[in-house]
Amino acid sequence: MSEVRIIAQLGAEVLRLRAHEVQDINAPEMQEVINDLFASLASANGVGLAAPQISASWRMMIIASRPSERYPYAPEMEPTLMINPSFESLSDVREKDWEGCLSIPGIRAKVPRFTQIKVNYINALGDAVIQDLVGFVARVFQHEYDHLDGLVYLDRVESNKDIISESEFLKLMAVD
Ligand SMILES: [Zn+2]
Repeated sequence: MSEVRIIAQLGAEVLRLRAHEVQDINAPEMQEVINDLFASLASANGVGLAAPQISASWRMMIIASRPSERYPYAPEMEPTLMINPSFESLSDVREKDWEGCLSIPGIRAKVPRFTQIKVNYINALGDAVIQDLVGFVARVFQHEYDHLDGLVYLDRVESNKDIISESEFLKLMAVD
């Protein structure tokens, strides 16, 4: 059983908390959060969602890359649950590109992110996973990871001029 939950919106306190480490992924409460996280991401048609965005302050997130107009070469991946994730950058190279967030509708902004990272997490089966991520998937990971630390992407924007409305963003994408 799962429930599509309302996505917490910017200003909600839960988005500004450091989420708790998950101790037992088999606990009924955790299983409920996991199921609702999958259902809520699918319903919102997003490429990622972190548990605090459904008002569950736990260190869990899903990333689900797929190609889009902006990222035509983004890999198509099954939604992947990451529990207690961590990462390190594999180089100092950071690139600025557009991001949006289900918790901050109506705007987009350019955000610098590491282009190559090594990530660690516990998967849905309880196994420890180590993976290298690059490009768009690395970007989505870093965006979702920030939510676990009470950060949103606007916190990483270098200039207010890098923030635009969704309608202007769509015009830009049409020109590309
Ligand atoms: Zn977000």
